[in-house]
Amino acid sequence: MAGANSRDRQLRERAAAVIPGGMYGHQSVGLLPDDYPQFFERGEGAHIWDADGRRYLDFMCAYGPNLFGYAHPEIDAAFVRQLGQGDTLTGPTGLMVELAEALTALVSHADWAIFCKNGTDATTMALTTARAHTKRRTVIRANGAYHGALPWCTPRPAGVIPSDRAHQIFCDYNDPASLEAAAAQAGDDLAAIFAAPFRHDAFVDQAEPDPAYARKARDLCDRTGALLVVDEVRAGFRLSRDCSWSRIGVQPDLSTWGKCVANGHPLSVMLGSDKARAAAASIYVTGSFWFQAATMAAALETLRLIRETDYLERITALGETLRAGLAERAAAAGFGFRQTGPSTLPLFLFDDDPDLRKGFCWSSEMLARGVYVHPWHNMFLCAAMTETDIAQTLDAAEGAFAALKRQAPGLAPVEKLAFLSAGAR
Ligand SMILES: *Cc1c(COP(=O)(O)O)cnc(C)c1O
Repeated sequence: MAGANSRDRQLRERAAAVIPGGMYGHQSVGLLPDDYPQFFERGEGAHIWDADGRRYLDFMCAYGPNLFGYAHPEIDAAFVRQLGQGDTLTGPTGLMVELAEALTALVSHADWAIFCKNGTDATTMALTTARAHTKRRTVIRANGAYHGALPWCTPRPAGVIPSDRAHQIFCDYNDPASLEAAAAQAGDDLAAIFAAPFRHDAFVDQAEPDPAYARKARDLCDRTGALLVVDEVRAGFRLSRDCSWSRIGVQPDLSTWGKCVANGHPLSVMLGSDKARAAAASIYVTGSFWFQAATMAAALETLRLIRETDYLERITALGETLRAGLAERAAAAGFGFRQTGPSTLPLFLFDDDPDLRKGFCWSSEMLARGVYVHPWHNMFLCAAMTETDIAQTLDAAEGAFAALKRQAPGLAPVEKLAFLSAGAR
């Protein structure tokens, strides 16, 4: 835990002077318990070291990008090799074509790819493509679903004006009737339906996609000519080596990917089917760094590992061991402890914990035992984790549940979080 004279505290004080609010976005000050470090110095495999040199088994995986381990030798070697040859050049290298070929070979619905840097670039491009394709305006998306941080989709209202959010209709995830009602409201102006692969909203239990909801979305798009967009930016390649709705037999027209596609190197991508090819060719989208070659070399190596290793089966099995072990320990300590979502992207919430005071306390106790978990956001498993890591996590959890039991009666509410989570619901 970061003491008053720690390097982390010193950096926070300096940051408060030169970075608005001390930090921004999902790294904003106050979103995690006070003893969580804000600053890190290193990552290797499944571990991170904070600015004071403390080592943690990291269940956040950089909020997704770390799929095969930090500082992965083969992926980073591919990156460095290409860096030596040229990275940001006057145009792309042949790696771009290779990467588009690799992705379209892997993802069933995809016939083409457009590369960019952040997930928000890809989701915004999907919106533009759907509007270009249909020559219509309205998009349907689910309440509470995250698609990025530009004014059209940012979860915080500051600085956003109504016209930034115009032509959007909200439905409830997994509720086919609400989707149908939203489509009826859109009438002949429906351009796209956006969907998360499963419900992975912050602060609330995650939920697997209801196949009836997915089929309804597909059906409404087919009936109206709108495009179906599945936003795989967070969950991509942790559920499937294909678009994750393939598992329930529904193919989108567009899918958006990011986070782990280059194992931490900045790359995102919109994939699409032939139906939307002409529209995708018609829009003007670009960025100074969108053609960088080194990141694409890292992505090709990441995709090779996705194809050729059993990483997915291994992280799924590790996630199941973790889930079963935590359930046992929580029950033994007498806590209602909800573990929701896929085992490779788990979220933990305590029963009877509306302001997250139990979740904050338990997470802090895990941190003190060398395990970095999140009290209200889904977490991520990575292929660098081992059975020993899971066993260590379960030992830490046993101690953390016991510590929570001792402290629970005297815990103070988490004021700031109550406000934020109310906004998210
Ligand atoms: C993170 C995320 C985004 C935005 O990606 P950035 O790289 O942060 O811009 C979009 N959609 C989902 C589902 C995400 O999890």
